[in-house]
Amino acid sequence: MPIYAYKCSACGHAADEMQKVSDAPLTVCPSCGQAAYAKQLSAAGFALKGTGWYATDFKGGGKPAETKAEPPSPACGTGACPACN
Ligand SMILES: [Zn+2]
Repeated sequence: MPIYAYKCSACGHAADEMQKVSDAPLTVCPSCGQAAYAKQLSAAGFALKGTGWYATDFKGGGKPAETKAEPPSPACGTGACPACN
């Protein structure tokens, strides 16, 4: 279940509320009772997702080059190594 950061613009009360995606967003502040409670669009959450995707992409692109450098030594002596032939 996703957790949303809520903040009241009237009294400044802030809390993380666990809600189903299908739940209606909260509007009434549990602290002061005013309808000034609003979901905060957390930039941190989006940034984490963004860097996560990029990190995966870079790792996926970098690993094949690293593993390619290794095979020649185990292949030595089998006649398949281009360095031995
Ligand atoms: Zn409030």
